[in-house]
Amino acid sequence: MTLPMKPQPLLGVDRLVKYHATPAGTVRAVDKVSFEVMPGETLGLVGESGCGKSTLGRTIVRLHEPDDGSILFQSNDISHLSRKALRPVRRHLQMVFQDPFASLNPRRTIRQILTEPFSVHGVGSRREQIDRVNELVSRVGLHSDHASRYPHELSGGQRQRIAIARAIALEPSLVVCDEPVSALDVSIQAQIINLLRRLQEESGAAYLFISHDLSVVGYLADRIAVMYLGEIVEIAPKRALWTEPLHPYTQALFSAIAEPLPPSVPRRKRSTLTGDLPSPMHPPSGCRFHTRCPFAMPKCREVAPALTEVQAGTIDARRVACHLYSDTPEATAQPSLLSGLALPAT
Ligand code: SF4
Repeated sequence: MTLPMKPQPLLGVDRLVKYHATPAGTVRAVDKVSFEVMPGETLGLVGESGCGKSTLGRTIVRLHEPDDGSILFQSNDISHLSRKALRPVRRHLQMVFQDPFASLNPRRTIRQILTEPFSVHGVGSRREQIDRVNELVSRVGLHSDHASRYPHELSGGQRQRIAIARAIALEPSLVVCDEPVSALDVSIQAQIINLLRRLQEESGAAYLFISHDLSVVGYLADRIAVMYLGEIVEIAPKRALWTEPLHPYTQALFSAIAEPLPPSVPRRKRSTLTGDLPSPMHPPSGCRFHTRCPFAMPKCREVAPALTEVQAGTIDARRVACHLYSDTPEATAQPSLLSGLALPAT
């Protein structure tokens, strides 16, 4: 009997490192991060502001040069490709930014902005490019008149629609969405999220969706990765994370979400995340969360926990970086954490 082939990841990030040198010192923005994105899925990447998630997204699309580790995209290592060698890759790997105004050239009309991807990659005749641009404008819910305007003549939501149209113009297989709705009015956010979802259903593209807003990520993502101070601390299917977050940081993040949760999701005990995010220039020793963790043990200050696979209860396997889920005497002394949430109620 032939066993079914395991699907290949579309994106494989392995021990990726990105440090920023600043006058005040080195910011360890992304520190040995590893994860995969499968074809057609949405991986949500969440964490507090300043945890390194945007730097991670920008490093994956090579807007930042990685300092170490590797980025495998469609089975090719793109970590150190030259600008020229990256050009054909960019067709398949696109990004939508938080601020659409900053990402659109103010001196070009929308038609010129949307024609550019086709021109740069030599796709279609002039006539075909015009048709494709008109089709794109319509696909993102705008009128053909909008194509003659300049970015400043559009609203924030309309500009983000154009930025999304530009990103999907060449039918990429992966779109990195970096906080694409956080600069928009709340009333517009739902429209843009629904647009992204519809476009994904039509195209089958995968998304790496970066956001500090767990409700947004919860709506779109198939799996969620949680980032803290430059590291991934937990990665799991969405439902598993919603129903049974394991890492103490994930528990605190998720218990702070404004309801409503889906009716099938058990109510969680509340936990407040206390203290500020430590400086990424001087991250705490051992587990970086130990300065804010209600379950910190002596070992946590000394030894950094690895992101390892655990099976919790009856739900899917996931990876967690926490000593509570290793086989140490300290961990087994707190078995309640493995079967439910034991964060202090507030
Ligand atoms: Fe808390 Fe220790 Fe787990 Fe870090 S390793 S999250 S400090 S229990």
